[in-house]
Amino acid sequence: MNNDLVRVCELIANGEENKVYKLQLWRRKRAAILKRDNYECQHCKRKAWRRKIVKATHVHHIKELKYYPELALDDDNLISLCFECHEEQHDRNENNRKQPKFVNEERW
Ligand SMILES: [Zn+2]
Ligand SMILES: [Zn+2]
Repeated sequence: MNNDLVRVCELIANGEENKVYKLQLWRRKRAAILKRDNYECQHCKRKAWRRKIVKATHVHHIKELKYYPELALDDDNLISLCFECHEEQHDRNENNRKQPKFVNEERW
């Protein structure tokens, strides 16, 4: 583990993951990921039917920072998303936690 990652892991261990986003090293990482992804939302891009490029505004941790601190700075765990897609990702995570998996109720 390099020093940057040690620092990030320490913050998370202390329940201060919000501070991670204020670190210079995170800003640098975030900028690098946005650049890698051409500043485009990678989810919108995959929705081919939309045929439009949406500007990415967020860099999202695919595996949540809180639960996978060791992947905090891992390029493969980071993805550029637009605001909407980012919200969607987090909603889904929330829902998965709250609801059991039987959403097959029929509506009449
Ligand atoms: Zn998007
Ligand atoms: Zn996120």
